[in-house]
Amino acid sequence: MNASELGLPMAVPAEGLPSRVRIHEVGARDGLQNERATVPTAVKAEFIRRLAGTGLTTIEATSFVRPEWVPQLADAEELFPAVAGLPVALPVLVPNERGLDRALALGARRVAVFASATESFAKANLNRTVDEALAMFAPVVARAKEADVHVRGYLSMCFGDPWEGAVPVPQVVEVCKALLDMGCDELSLGDTIGVATPGHVGALLTALTGAGVPVSTLGVHFHDTYGQALSNTLVALQHGVTTVDSSAGGLGGCPYAKSATGNLATEDLVWMLRGLGIDTGVDLGRLVATSVWMAAHLGRTSPSRTVRALAHAGSDSHEEQ
Ligand code: MG
Repeated sequence: MNASELGLPMAVPAEGLPSRVRIHEVGARDGLQNERATVPTAVKAEFIRRLAGTGLTTIEATSFVRPEWVPQLADAEELFPAVAGLPVALPVLVPNERGLDRALALGARRVAVFASATESFAKANLNRTVDEALAMFAPVVARAKEADVHVRGYLSMCFGDPWEGAVPVPQVVEVCKALLDMGCDELSLGDTIGVATPGHVGALLTALTGAGVPVSTLGVHFHDTYGQALSNTLVALQHGVTTVDSSAGGLGGCPYAKSATGNLATEDLVWMLRGLGIDTGVDLGRLVATSVWMAAHLGRTSPSRTVRALAHAGSDSHEEQ
């Protein structure tokens, strides 16, 4: 595939949108964590190297949870040093102080904790109440800040929860404020089961900024389970959000909806942003090639519409459509 042959949308800016968006690439962590196949460490390292070569600047690398919790990411101690020299930010997940110790020992400069907006998911994911989970994170965040390490707070189930249904906006705002008060530098608002729709996204962002949360601290993490991720992203951009999470090739299904489509695909995001004239610094052709390469290792095709369209255009341009 030749990147220069790939089609790109015509850039037509729309009013009221940022000029630049930072993509927080989660394919190597959130993506591979939710894929059935476990990928060899050397392949993961090569994946992260290739992602860095596309112009992505923030590539979440792995997770320092207990290896038996997430077998797909049990090689964090081997993987992180293999990619640490890349000229990109490489955040890692840390669930507790033990995880933070492991990450700091390897020189991690960015860590993330993962909280839940709902009691049911806090119980299922962390076996704690929401408040107990926050209490567990407080010393992690404090110690990370003492070490001058950037801390992201993931917040799951910001829109809907598989056990509780729709999640009240004020409940989400409360946990967001607790994470920021604790010292988190940035939040990632997760639509873990993909049920958010644009009006709901706007309502949450309006409530957060109305409660004094600076929009510059907010990132969004949408799932495309019901085909809403890009619509939701556009609304977030209209509200001033400039950090968007996505996963190369759409890696990682939705573990709660048993759908092949989970994380918003980075290629789909880059296609839309390019069309809006918004700079991401990402070379879409290289990114598509990377996702096609990774899909071959996983033995499945990418669910990303953009990957399918461009990979096909690049490799089979004479075939009937
Ligand atoms: Mg995700």
